[in-house]
Amino acid sequence: MAKFRIEHDRDTCIGCGACANICPDNWAMEPDGKSKPKKTDIDSLGCNQSAADSCPVQCIRVIKQ
Ligand code: SF4
Repeated sequence: MAKFRIEHDRDTCIGCGACANICPDNWAMEPDGKSKPKKTDIDSLGCNQSAADSCPVQCIRVIKQ
């Protein structure tokens, strides 16, 4: 099992782009204008916590498993 799970509430996402700017390693903008994590089960947190912290509507959760 991966050490962390990333949860993204796409209904709440307003497509501001902050997560993709801060953490392009794991976040990208999709054609519908909202972001999406490339991987949701990860062993190394990397910049994902920064992405979560940057989200103005707090729709990214980092869960330690
Ligand atoms: S920072 Fe939050 S609201 Fe902005 S694109 Fe990323 S997930 Fe969506």
